[in-house]
Amino acid sequence: MTVEAKKETLGFQTEVKHLLHLMINSLYSNKEIFLRELISNGSDAADKLRFEALSNESLYEGNSDLSIRVDFDKDERTITIADSGIGMTREEVQDHIGTIAKSGTKQFFEKLTGDQAKDSELIGQFGVGFYSAFIVADKVTLTTRKAGTKEAVRWISAGEGDYTIETVDKETRGTEIVLHLKEGEDEFLDGYRLRSIIKKFSDHISLPIIMSQDIPAETDEDGKETAPARIEDETVNSASALWTKSKDDISDDDYNEFYKHVGHDFQDPLAHVHSKVEGVNEYTLLLYVPARAPFDMWDRDAKHGVKLYIRKVFITDDAEQLMPRYLRFVRGVIDADTLPLNVSREILQQSKQISTIKAGAVKKVLGLLKSMAKNDAEKYEKFWSEFGNVIKEGVIEDHKNKDAVAKLLRFSSTYTDKEKQDVALADYVERMKEGQEKIYYVTADSFSAAKNSPHLEIFRKKGVEVILMADRVDEWLISNLTEFDGKSLQSVAKGELDLDKLDTEEDKKEKEETSKDFEAVLKQMKEVLGEKVSDVRVTNRLTDSPACLVTGDNEMSLNMERIMKEAGQSMDMMGMGGSKPIFEINPTHALVTNIKDEADDERFADITNILFDQAILSEGGQLDDPSAFVHKLNGLLQSLLK
Ligand code: ADP
Repeated sequence: MTVEAKKETLGFQTEVKHLLHLMINSLYSNKEIFLRELISNGSDAADKLRFEALSNESLYEGNSDLSIRVDFDKDERTITIADSGIGMTREEVQDHIGTIAKSGTKQFFEKLTGDQAKDSELIGQFGVGFYSAFIVADKVTLTTRKAGTKEAVRWISAGEGDYTIETVDKETRGTEIVLHLKEGEDEFLDGYRLRSIIKKFSDHISLPIIMSQDIPAETDEDGKETAPARIEDETVNSASALWTKSKDDISDDDYNEFYKHVGHDFQDPLAHVHSKVEGVNEYTLLLYVPARAPFDMWDRDAKHGVKLYIRKVFITDDAEQLMPRYLRFVRGVIDADTLPLNVSREILQQSKQISTIKAGAVKKVLGLLKSMAKNDAEKYEKFWSEFGNVIKEGVIEDHKNKDAVAKLLRFSSTYTDKEKQDVALADYVERMKEGQEKIYYVTADSFSAAKNSPHLEIFRKKGVEVILMADRVDEWLISNLTEFDGKSLQSVAKGELDLDKLDTEEDKKEKEETSKDFEAVLKQMKEVLGEKVSDVRVTNRLTDSPACLVTGDNEMSLNMERIMKEAGQSMDMMGMGGSKPIFEINPTHALVTNIKDEADDERFADITNILFDQAILSEGGQLDDPSAFVHKLNGLLQSLLK
């Protein structure tokens, strides 16, 4: 035996074992999907070959026929799926079939609960592809030869921990998969059953899916045989690219099944847009919004994106080529009529036509989302809970479409006081008070910190709605979204509030008087707090809390500062020097009223420092020196007990 012909037995990656076990149990009620998955892979393999052959015809090895064959053998109890696609090298088989190379694998396994119903949904979301063969087979033989190479390999596994791989001969390029059916799966050894599964799940595959068919002998009126019994090849599917058909000829099921193929997903999509764009750049797009976020959504290196075809020839599914990052969850196909076929992927990247197509496609997706928001609130809610945080990146990333993206945003607000994000900025604007000019918001570390922020007290009292923001991305969002519908967005924790316009005459008078009353206290507090604050003043924000911290209009919010600190960014390093807050005290609070009469300077200082630290805590912030705070507080408590 030569070295190349060596036969190896290798162990599956631990995850594969786990995945196989899970899948076999949880997907059993949908077992016929194995055929869809394997056909889908065959179709992708044909797409890849067609692309490679554009620059290297010899890969066709004299036969440019691309198809998938499905056969079965009742005696052997096998089903065979063979494609004439690109095939795999030994290394590729090891990497792709013995390993889960997918990003998000770790998160996937972390999410598993042991509850079968839940896990099977997760597994669908993760996508199982090739391994679905083991739902119905207890042994799978995969023989493959990469186009343009000589060596073929055979991979065999019973799906139980290991597989063998050996070098074999294979005349035709491509991959052949033989499923040795488990006991009790004989229902699949039936041409009619297989045809109907293919029709149901794989009709949209643009490659012909061929099965052989028994044609009985033909006889004339006298019973004389005119044609002998024979076997003929039959194309089972309609074998035309779905997106090229007219919308009227495509059923919802067709759209859904096609999505599962292009999206590598098990679930139906949430929505789609299918449209042919005419003009200088002619192209057809069929784009989908999935129902669930893929596991690799937060993975920077995630690969599967929208697929680019040129006149039905697959070119690339390089993620960032056709969709901006904030729409990275979109799946589907864009087929360009006017691009030259012999383009390299590199040239595409700089192509003006591609950027025009991309801009058009983005508009279509935003349009789809807009109409979903308008016409199907429930659907949109689902969409937002899965993808809202990604859409928010659009405000930062996509200047051209900023307004359109801003209209898609949904937030929590004091109007509902619920964590569910379902308030649109337009809803807010509609509810604005007479005389209110700004859209108010608060950012915090968590929803409950935002909702309970002392800064909201005056707003609640006056019945002015405030948007509650607690997602990581919100700070960035808000620094890029300074205006909506002509109204500026204003943090309730920053600068002077112009709520005065909503004050009654009585309110105004009272404020003037108290400010005077507290002049001495403010001065003394400022001395105590020294470098920690830029100013101390009487608040018009608070009703129930004794004090709060306010940042300057142009300074970084305390929440943002906290996020940066956690990310290991020092303010000094960034040349920001840390913003010094303004300390605001509430003259109607008993603690503040009484401190006016405090004669003991030390006690005055302790109380001031405690109020300051409390203000940080009540916004969900962290103290630089928590033990000093506890020490001071205990000192005061002790003096109470004396
Ligand atoms: P997915 O198709 O979602 O990537 P699979 O587990 O189905 O996951 O397949 C893993 C990889 O194995 C594919 O991405 C592809 O590279 C390779 N592969 C699977 N089936 C074939 C095939 N019939 N021909 C060529 N390559 C294949």
